[in-house]
Amino acid sequence: MSEFYDVIVIGGGAAGMISSIFSARHGKKTLVLEHNEKLGKKLYITGKGRCNLTNNSSIENHLNHIVNNGKFMYSALNAFSPQSTIEFFENAGLKLKTEQGNRVFPASDKSSDVIKTLTKLMQNYGVQIALNCEIKTVEKQNDIFKIKCINSVEYTCNSVIIATGGVSYSGTGASPFGYEIAKQFGHNVIEPAPALCPIVVKDDISQLNGLSLKNVNLSIKVNNKIYSEFGEMLFTYNSLTGPIALKLSSLINRFNLSKATASIDFKPALTKEKLNDKFLRDFNLYSNKDLKNYLNSLLPVRLVSYFTEKSQLKNKKLAEITKQERTILINCLKKFDISVKCLDNINVGIVTSGGVDVKQINSKTCMSKLVPNLYFVGEVLNVDAFTGGYNLQIAWSTGYLAGNSV
Ligand SMILES: Cc1cc2nc3c(=O)[nH]c(=O)nc-3n(C[C@H](O)[C@H](O)[C@H](O)COP(=O)(O)OP(=O)(O)OC[C@H]3O[C@@H](n4cnc5c(N)ncnc54)[C@H](O)[C@@H]3O)c2cc1C
Repeated sequence: MSEFYDVIVIGGGAAGMISSIFSARHGKKTLVLEHNEKLGKKLYITGKGRCNLTNNSSIENHLNHIVNNGKFMYSALNAFSPQSTIEFFENAGLKLKTEQGNRVFPASDKSSDVIKTLTKLMQNYGVQIALNCEIKTVEKQNDIFKIKCINSVEYTCNSVIIATGGVSYSGTGASPFGYEIAKQFGHNVIEPAPALCPIVVKDDISQLNGLSLKNVNLSIKVNNKIYSEFGEMLFTYNSLTGPIALKLSSLINRFNLSKATASIDFKPALTKEKLNDKFLRDFNLYSNKDLKNYLNSLLPVRLVSYFTEKSQLKNKKLAEITKQERTILINCLKKFDISVKCLDNINVGIVTSGGVDVKQINSKTCMSKLVPNLYFVGEVLNVDAFTGGYNLQIAWSTGYLAGNSV
């Protein structure tokens, strides 16, 4: 005998939890199936454990921060806006705060409080939860879905919401299950690719490991097109990461990067001409100073050693620097090239780009256009955004749409 539900949500992450709350709020008998031992494992690690749950800005700004299929998100964001997210959590008793860049966090700085708030709402509305649930098959017969689990338990229901997320950070329970179900029911799945992911380089940058730079311009040239971002970045022993590198990774993740070059402009506020004028002035003024000491006042010490070695600039007195050496120096500061190898493994991408093709999903309900009463929400869809709370907003808005529509 199988137990019958109006709605079964597969996946108890951000999108699954919110969709179950709205489904149950409409009086639907709702069950969440989660294969982890607890809900919201990925939510727990978001925002470095603080959970940047949305961005307190206009819908237009959210749309501008979505890399793939922003248009699809138009209805969802209008139905459940960033403002709705803030009100939803505050009405549930979670105090929030807005930080730099309009990033919204729980006032407690604890992502666990976001999970607790959602779990409490689920309990209040009578959502049933089955943890440690390994699903074997999902079938549809005569308008009824039948879900069989590995432990021989069977569930039947009118509607299924797939909220299994992307494939990155597999330790949090991420799995390709949602893609498999989508394919089984005739959907296209766009090949998953890493997004918001470190950019691995060919050059040996190990001596720069851990070095963080602010106010620099990072450009990636690939297929004769240049993608550029200004802000903060970080070196690891073999990759470029930090906000601007992660952002660029989402823009270049569909290209073959083996011939791509990354260029760093360490002094974007100065043109080459202005930098030349500055050097001429300073070299004259501090003619007795060593080049290395002088550069150390302009750039982090480790970086100076790295690029003087790389450009084979000899350490000498400023007065002895030739015009040619000055040009090398200017080029180093304005266009320091590093060869790109590839993006890091998809598992370390903060989000997954690709997923269920939104062309086959109704943007006003998140229901499949091919299979009535089958819904897809959150990161399992081919929608991804930059950092700043935009990805969780996608989960809340699409989860709301499905929960409200079932
Ligand atoms: C380190 C990190 C930090 C992040 N920080 C932020 C941030 O601060 N702000 C932001 O907006 N976004 C952030 N993100 C992105 C954000 O976490 C995701 O976009 C969001 O969690 C997607 O929600 P989801 O519900 O679609 O998927 P998930 O939250 O991944 O939930 C999917 C759930 O489905 C379950 N599941 C998978 N397969 C099965 C199966 N076969 N059976 C049953 N259950 C299954 C999983 O265990 C999981 O619980 C971050 C991501 C990472 C990795």
